Amino acid sequence: MTEKEKPGTNSSESGAPKTNPYSIIADNSFVERPQARMDLVQRILDDPRMHDHKEGFLSCLQCGVCTSGCPAARFTDYSPRDIARRALEGDPTLLEDDSVWYCFYCYTCHSRCPRKNSVAVINQVIRSMQVESGYGVKHVAMFSAWGEQFYDKGMGGTPHVFFQDIADAWGPKWKDFIARRDEIRELIGVGGMYPNEETVGEVRVIMEDTGFKARLESIGAWGGHRAEDEK
Ligand code: SF4
Ligand code: SF4
Repeated sequence: MTEKEKPGTNSSESGAPKTNPYSIIADNSFVERPQARMDLVQRILDDPRMHDHKEGFLSCLQCGVCTSGCPAARFTDYSPRDIARRALEGDPTLLEDDSVWYCFYCYTCHSRCPRKNSVAVINQVIRSMQVESGYGVKHVAMFSAWGEQFYDKGMGGTPHVFFQDIADAWGPKWKDFIARRDEIRELIGVGGMYPNEETVGEVRVIMEDTGFKARLESIGAWGGHRAEDEK
């Protein structure tokens, strides 16, 4: 077979063989990856959150539609298209890449991807892996106070650990309002702010049985964020 007849090559006007750049991209996509990289690809594919996106993940065409609509990409160097490519390549640098934390799960990429890939979900998997390795703990530790608030009170809300800062910002009236909140709610007939003890107990069972509490404990992000009177 002459150079001209080989797939991916043709002749320039001077007659010298010219390589088709798209054939290089295609060739690279089928190059066998080292096992460590395949392990990362498999780990992403095996995550239950990827159940609707496996084929999309494997067939990302690097069109960039995800990046074009991503609010985080608009204001930072973060690129969902780049995350999709590196995840598919099993690139281990993703496991210590802080940029995946710019994503805030708006799911724009997810809803627009022509392949039904989801960088929003890929990021969730990568973030979990970063937290498991310890690298990503710095990104979640600050949020653990909300998890503890949920465990303590059975519902979301502003953790008590932030009350002093809020009081400093909003003034003494806010602190007085919080101190009298239950009394005010009673007066206007809307009952207590938080679920009853039985419901709180049920929420705690869910958070314990699903491993949520243990997970926060395992990364050292539990017990340090409740106000002294809440411990
Ligand atoms: S929109 Fe989908 S197919 Fe296009 S680059 Fe992003 S993840 Fe890949
Ligand atoms: S979910 Fe994340 S990656 Fe996707 S568009 Fe929103 S911020 Fe960007």
